[in-house]
Amino acid sequence: MSYYVTTPIYYSNGEPHLGHAYSTMAADILARHMRQRGEDVFMLTGTDEHGEPIALAAEAEGVSPQELVDRNAPKFEDLVERVDSTHDFFIRTTDKGHVERVQELVTRVRDNGYVYQGTYEGWYCPRCADFKNESEIGPGDTCPIHEIPLLREKEENWFFRLSAFQEKLEKLYEDEPGRIMPDFRRNEALSFIRGGLRDVSLSRSQLSWGVPLPWDPDQVMYVWFDALSNYYTALGYAREGEDLSERYWPASWHILAKDILKFHAVYWPAFLMAAGLEPPQRMFIHGYLLMGEKKMSKSLGNVLDPFEVIEKFGADALRFYCFREVSFGQDGSISTEGFEKRYESELANDFGNLASRSLAMVDRYRDGLVPETDADPLLLADFDGINERVSALLDEAQIGQALEEIWVLVRRLNRYVEESQPWVLAKDEGDAARLDQVLNGLTEGLRVLSLLLHPYLPNSTATLLAALGEPELSLREFASRSGGQKVERIEPLFPKL
Ligand SMILES: [Zn+2]
Repeated sequence: MSYYVTTPIYYSNGEPHLGHAYSTMAADILARHMRQRGEDVFMLTGTDEHGEPIALAAEAEGVSPQELVDRNAPKFEDLVERVDSTHDFFIRTTDKGHVERVQELVTRVRDNGYVYQGTYEGWYCPRCADFKNESEIGPGDTCPIHEIPLLREKEENWFFRLSAFQEKLEKLYEDEPGRIMPDFRRNEALSFIRGGLRDVSLSRSQLSWGVPLPWDPDQVMYVWFDALSNYYTALGYAREGEDLSERYWPASWHILAKDILKFHAVYWPAFLMAAGLEPPQRMFIHGYLLMGEKKMSKSLGNVLDPFEVIEKFGADALRFYCFREVSFGQDGSISTEGFEKRYESELANDFGNLASRSLAMVDRYRDGLVPETDADPLLLADFDGINERVSALLDEAQIGQALEEIWVLVRRLNRYVEESQPWVLAKDEGDAARLDQVLNGLTEGLRVLSLLLHPYLPNSTATLLAALGEPELSLREFASRSGGQKVERIEPLFPKL
């Protein structure tokens, strides 16, 4: 099965921050997990580089827009690499391959009769790059998001017949509720659509930084249609000499933050349908990670800067914390203090320490050879069906809940060590068979959990799997290996600072 997951493309007029890292890590966790299941995965991320906010920022600095985005795009690419994203392609909307394909796409939309010339008059926020409906205007004609005065715009441009898709979109989200997750976001999209869809500007005439319309090069495409198209255009040129569209379109999942729901749930599927293409299969809308101001940690102060966290604690810790602390799909508070607590109690103690001591005991009591024995029925019952449960949750992009399912068993193995007390068993030769079973159960449990945790903690689990003598990344059942392999001691996976 093909599995195509995308992040939003990041608007490259500013600096990359935790919000960008969050969407990327989510998509990457899904991509890694599906690869473990042997699916044919493609993951896309990149930067959105056109439009007025970039033109204005460049002007203010006295550089060309191209210079500005050439300077900023690598910062985003650096961030996604530091969070250990395994994306298959990094798209930039200034790529020649993208520009050509957007022009093809918009031509198809026009040929199909969904484009006409008209006069736009209304309110526009230059920071959102968005034309505002009457219902989206703050007090005193301001942008409710940016709290800046909106501009009254009047210009001749080309319109996209969005109104033609009102019924189709309503039906799409009513008949197939799973298309927009979580469900309250689907309701939000539906109520926007039911409120009445009006045609929207497809182009701008008073801006030159964008993709020129093929039939009217004095106009550039409205940046949202240009940007959204990336999910489709990338497949046309990500692999030289190969068109991946047949193989991966429609996308399995678009991952995005709640502020861009309207564009993804309304404009984008309508634009695709107008071009005669399938809308994306599903989208997951996540919330914001909110920084409280009070809670400070010793080493990180009060700002959870992804670059700094990764520098000090590694990418695994950041990937883990964001999905452990905040329910994926909801807004949630994060703090540097909370980060350090979880790092110590869950990563260093629950998981890291469990791994170190288990391996050390196999080394000490059995010369590093996992005893060959029948699986402990106690653990067998606990681990029964875990791969299926985690897979079912990740099929629904329930990244935090899947992690909780796994963590229940991490805690279970810790209790198992305390209950079975291998160090006591080791003192009495009469308990040798029981000790064999306990050591076998611990290493087998660790192996299953490391594989399940691999999408969340790619680096530390790679170390652990190597120490466990497990060369493959595909998911394994508990007791699918009966022992006999050599394991090695490891340094602490999550050293205490
Ligand atoms: Zn705005």
